[in-house]
Amino acid sequence: MSTEFDDLAFDTRAVRAGQQRTHEGEHAEAIFPTSSYVFANAAEAAARFSGEQPGNIYSRFTNPTVRTFEQRLASLEGGACCVATSSGMAAILSTCAGLLKSGDHIVSSRSIFGTTTVLFTTYFAKFGVETTFVPLADLDAWEEAIRPETRLLFIETPSNPLTELADIRRLADIAHARGCLLAVDNCFCTPALQRPLELGADIVIHSATKYLDGQGRCIGGAVVGDTERVGKDVYGFLRTAGPTMSPFNAWVFLKGLETLTLRMKAHSAGALVLARWLEQQPAVARVYYPGLESHPQHELAVRQQQGFGGIVSFDVKGGKESAWTVIDATRVFSITANLGDAKSTITHPATTTHGRLTPEQRAAAGISDGLIRLAVGLESVTDLQADLARGLAAIRR
Ligand SMILES: *Cc1c(COP(=O)(O)O)cnc(C)c1O
Repeated sequence: MSTEFDDLAFDTRAVRAGQQRTHEGEHAEAIFPTSSYVFANAAEAAARFSGEQPGNIYSRFTNPTVRTFEQRLASLEGGACCVATSSGMAAILSTCAGLLKSGDHIVSSRSIFGTTTVLFTTYFAKFGVETTFVPLADLDAWEEAIRPETRLLFIETPSNPLTELADIRRLADIAHARGCLLAVDNCFCTPALQRPLELGADIVIHSATKYLDGQGRCIGGAVVGDTERVGKDVYGFLRTAGPTMSPFNAWVFLKGLETLTLRMKAHSAGALVLARWLEQQPAVARVYYPGLESHPQHELAVRQQQGFGGIVSFDVKGGKESAWTVIDATRVFSITANLGDAKSTITHPATTTHGRLTPEQRAAAGISDGLIRLAVGLESVTDLQADLARGLAAIRR
């Protein structure tokens, strides 16, 4: 999927790559809300269906607006091919369903999006694909968990909500030495801050719902990689099973990509200010943010990422009661589990995203009752700080 801007800088491609103007000369990308396409004559229809002639047939297969989004994201991630999906979960489903078969084995980080865990353990297990979960940063545990039938290693880095990192390059080496593929859910960093394919990963997965949209409007996803696995295997499943992206959503994500670098820089800058400030608050026991020198993997974050992202977590003293006090004292933060929005969000993982785990499982995952996760948006950092200061002051009283 090469575009005419592949030789230009990331920020130029984020704005320009993949667009093909129609004869109307529209400046912005066109939306093509059409389910099917017409052919000049019966012979052309036959040639399209047989694959002899390339071109559109039906929007479950291809759509010009969706293709523009796919080409732009492929260019930004540095992949040969991108397949857009109806959601982030559909991207993970399509990747695994396209690449794996019954009897295959996945080794996954245990710190992944909760619904992904359910997809692996409840649904793929039903079809004979087993998953072993390991601690994200423990390379020995990854080595040990790989079996002859392991096909896929799956990670998110930084992890949610504790911002732990995986060394993508080293994990890719382990995967390839053992005949496996490495898939990275790059939702938290986006290609503006981290490009896993350049570090040796084979597949990048996105929930476009988050930072690619950036304003919390649409659900979508994407898979990026090579023409064989993504272009044939994953795409083959997608066009057959049908979780394709709608052209309207593709258009919204295209507009999101145009401001991606600016937004990710602003999210990162705001998050760093808040993280540094939180570290100094007496009611705060610990702050988790890869941009802090106190983060145990800060050096890896500097090496592997072009910025530290918008997710900051912190432990307040006094457990759940204190955490809820801080959350309920906010005026600006939205109390919601979503992230990647211009609007800042605040979450209590122990009673929401990680509420289904037993207390022992939560303890093992490092999710304390006092843990709060922020997804820092684009509002004034001064206002966000004041929002948190109010609740933190109430704890001390
Ligand atoms: C939200 C999310 C997903 C799932 O994406 P949807 O678009 O909600 O289906 C997958 N991975 C991560 C890291 C996410 O944050």
